[in-house]
Amino acid sequence: MTLPTLEPTLAQQTSSLLQTLGVPAHRISGGNLRARTPITGEVLAELPVTTRSAAEAAIERAHQAFFAWRTVPAPRRGELVRLLGEELRANLDPLGRLVTLEAGKILSEGRGEVQEMIDICVFAAGLSRGIGGLTLPSERPSHRMMETWHPLGVTGVISAFNFPVAVWAWNAALALVCGNTVVWKPSEKTPLTALAVQAIFERAAARLPDLPADLSTVLLGGGALGEAVVDHPRVALVSATGSTRMGRAVGPRLAARFARSILELGGNNAAIVTPTADLHLALRGIAFAAMGTAGQRCTTLRRLLVHDTVYDTLLPQLKRVYASVAIGDPRLPGTLVGPLIDRAAFDAMQGTLDRVRAAGAQVTGGERVLAKEHPEAFYVRPALVEIAFQTEDVQRETFAPILSVLRYTDLRDAIALHNDVPQGLSSAIFTNDLREAERFLSAEGSDCGIANVNIGTSGAEIGGAFGGEKETGGGRESGSDVWKSYMRRATNTINYGTELPLAQGVSFDID
Ligand code: NAD
Repeated sequence: MTLPTLEPTLAQQTSSLLQTLGVPAHRISGGNLRARTPITGEVLAELPVTTRSAAEAAIERAHQAFFAWRTVPAPRRGELVRLLGEELRANLDPLGRLVTLEAGKILSEGRGEVQEMIDICVFAAGLSRGIGGLTLPSERPSHRMMETWHPLGVTGVISAFNFPVAVWAWNAALALVCGNTVVWKPSEKTPLTALAVQAIFERAAARLPDLPADLSTVLLGGGALGEAVVDHPRVALVSATGSTRMGRAVGPRLAARFARSILELGGNNAAIVTPTADLHLALRGIAFAAMGTAGQRCTTLRRLLVHDTVYDTLLPQLKRVYASVAIGDPRLPGTLVGPLIDRAAFDAMQGTLDRVRAAGAQVTGGERVLAKEHPEAFYVRPALVEIAFQTEDVQRETFAPILSVLRYTDLRDAIALHNDVPQGLSSAIFTNDLREAERFLSAEGSDCGIANVNIGTSGAEIGGAFGGEKETGGGRESGSDVWKSYMRRATNTINYGTELPLAQGVSFDID
């Protein structure tokens, strides 16, 4: 007789992944912070939260660690980040699976997020040998001017649930090579992946002798704990990723104490499909950008502006894709759309759909699915909203898979419509017309931090600067010259002569 093999529960799978990833048992039991999986809604673990006083003590330790870390040569700091990348590579699969379990992303996206962490480690390790300043001409003879870049101090990282691990890496990899220490307050909805990353970081740090302790620390809790990071005078820079609502709370508090900030907030991203667009390519780009991660990316495509001449060709195709997209357990190979994070996300989606319907929109999809199989989880069919004008709901970010579709006839009108929202993160144009593409990328085109041609709005690479304008917060993370945000700049003027000429011809002769 063969006994039926029982599939381990999600809590058991999580526990075994956490063990593989080296998370100490005491960090994942005996507390009242509930980590749930959006796949079924079940509780995965109950963890201890960090008290405010423990957070303040951790920040103080990070500040002490900074004094030692800032004197370590940058290439040696880069070696730590290189080793972090190695450890992440070795743990890509279990960490990717944990992201899927805790955030509900499909497996390839869970793994993709870890790949992004590895990529930024490679970038930052290289950067550690390239941090350099300008040498500038002085107007005075026998003088030289130059810029030097110095570490800032403790970097606070506050992150959102939808990129539970990559956002830490974008910040931490740069902050560390720049000579800062890091204190991380992840989303209270994704504490387990944060603990796994902390364990991986500690393994990387243990591979280098004589490193200061407390180079990167994780604090678990909600918004109030985030405020403890924001308000602490030892935290020189806070990089906060989340909703615009959170940014409105955090931004003024940081400004009040003249602390640095990188704000990465909500988006309401649009794409324009012009008459010359390759519609097959556009359809694929739109599908991934609008439905991928169940519409829960800051760069998710939320508005589609389609030229009148291609609207009636594209829309039926889009409806077919929306009707047939595979929705379900993100761990299964065929699934493309996983669950929403929780009931609140589902309620927000339904509220928006009700209101746009009342405003005259035609809504296709948007209904809950798999409710019988998973009464505590929230799977939805992505929604298409055909609407004649941008209502307040279209101009607001609803963090769910809702794509509003509007017609246009003149590209100037489409660009005006495109920019007529409070957010300014990501944007795209699908066109084969060089003039249209260049106009969209020009000063009179998209007003976003990211503007693409013939690819969707989501799925950025780490090599570029990532972030957006207006209510998206103005911050930039990741590649290009973003490292400068993690350092302070000093202008140095050196006199190697025997005279003391003053700038601007000022004379001040004391003889
Ligand atoms: P959220 O704003 O609810 O929470 C984000 C983080 O902020 C969490 O860690 C939370 O505990 C913390 N927080 C909340 N209130 C705070 C306060 N007053 N002080 C300090 N910290 C506080 O966002 P979410 O639901 O986790 O994530 C979704 C949102 O994040 C969407 O709006 C999305 O567009 C945005 N997002 C933006 C980017 C970007 O790079 N622009 C990336 C990912 C997500």
